[in-house]
Amino acid sequence: MSAAAIQAPAGAMLKLLEELAAFSAPGPGVTRLLYTQEWCAAQRHISETMAELGLDVRSDRVGNVYGRLAGTADDVGAGDKVILTGSHIDTVRCGGKYDGAYGIAAAVTALGYLRQRFGPPLRTVEAVSFSEEEGSRFPLAFWGSGHVTGLYNGSEAERTADPAGVTLRQAMEACGLPPFGPAGSGDAISGSSAGAGVPSGIAAYIELHIEQGIVLEEAGLSLGVVEAIVGQRRAELILRGSANHAGTTPMGLRRDALAGAAEMLAGMEGLAVTAGDPLVATSGRLETFPGTPNVIPGEVRFTVDIRHSESAVLEDFCTRLFADFAAIAARRGLELQVKETLSTSPAAMDHQLRRSLERICREQGRSWRSMVSGAGHDAQLFAPLCPAAMLFVPSRGGISHAPEEYTSPEELAAGLDILTMLLYELAYR
Ligand SMILES: [Zn+2]
Repeated sequence: MSAAAIQAPAGAMLKLLEELAAFSAPGPGVTRLLYTQEWCAAQRHISETMAELGLDVRSDRVGNVYGRLAGTADDVGAGDKVILTGSHIDTVRCGGKYDGAYGIAAAVTALGYLRQRFGPPLRTVEAVSFSEEEGSRFPLAFWGSGHVTGLYNGSEAERTADPAGVTLRQAMEACGLPPFGPAGSGDAISGSSAGAGVPSGIAAYIELHIEQGIVLEEAGLSLGVVEAIVGQRRAELILRGSANHAGTTPMGLRRDALAGAAEMLAGMEGLAVTAGDPLVATSGRLETFPGTPNVIPGEVRFTVDIRHSESAVLEDFCTRLFADFAAIAARRGLELQVKETLSTSPAAMDHQLRRSLERICREQGRSWRSMVSGAGHDAQLFAPLCPAAMLFVPSRGGISHAPEEYTSPEELAAGLDILTMLLYELAYR
């Protein structure tokens, strides 16, 4: 089948994307937090669109919505696996209309088109709209894909609450989801809607997403084939010295916590630059105490966020960094406490799926590069369990999680084309 013969309707995808953007709390931008009215309306709209396109629609107990094209050569209930493609429907506060929603709109459009053009596939393929990925309303992320991949067992629903004190369970019930039972009672990728053992039921997970960075735009390229999603280490650090008079304490007799933190962070930047791409190191928050202009800071609290696509490099960097921090603290007579707050492993994307995406890009005459994702995505949860792949389209100015988030219709259409071709190859050949 030549590339020209397979072309999903980009107009329908763009229309769906605009429709989804309208399901938002008041602006600026799009705000669609988990289990809010806007969220419910969006998932309902996706269900209806899937049904109109002839997909078999169902949802699971956390509100993930699936649209299935059953394979004629498959008996999914008997153990054959599903090719899954999609992304997340939730947004950050005042985010853009492409993050997450694009991957869903493209998946739904591609499946609707393939069904209409080629009829039922040989192998079962399913579009998914995950309930949550961003962690914007409740203090946990990947609630949708984490439910499918076993990251969560459901006990979180009772003990996790939003800032207003509403628990996940209450929020689910308020938007009409069935009473939240024990894990495995209604989450099904595999065949029947009561099936458990979800991860084993997935043949592949493919996610189309905006880059949320500036690499593709800077290089003037249409597409990014993701080779890995970075692993992350985050830590909160407390550095204690002694607060004292800014006028009467000679420089040689100070235990200035902020001067120590400044030396640490300048050192961290140097180490990171030396390590080179794709290593990134950030301190996004720093507070000084007592925080008074004429008092030497006696205490500083700050965060670090370190990312790289290879576990060994990430480990080595963090080991070296925290050893340097300890040495600086000791030399300055400061007390250092380090509390790790997040540790995720890098997720390698499937080699064969990457090669297929790259070949399709070449065949379609699209410019592309292989790249690392510095942001987390649903695909990273699937990568340890089944072949997973991600494809990026450019983000204008590298801007995301903001109302200014933008990707041109042509670039969005190019991503849809490649996704559709890959799904055709996987499901129909
Ligand atoms: Zn996203």
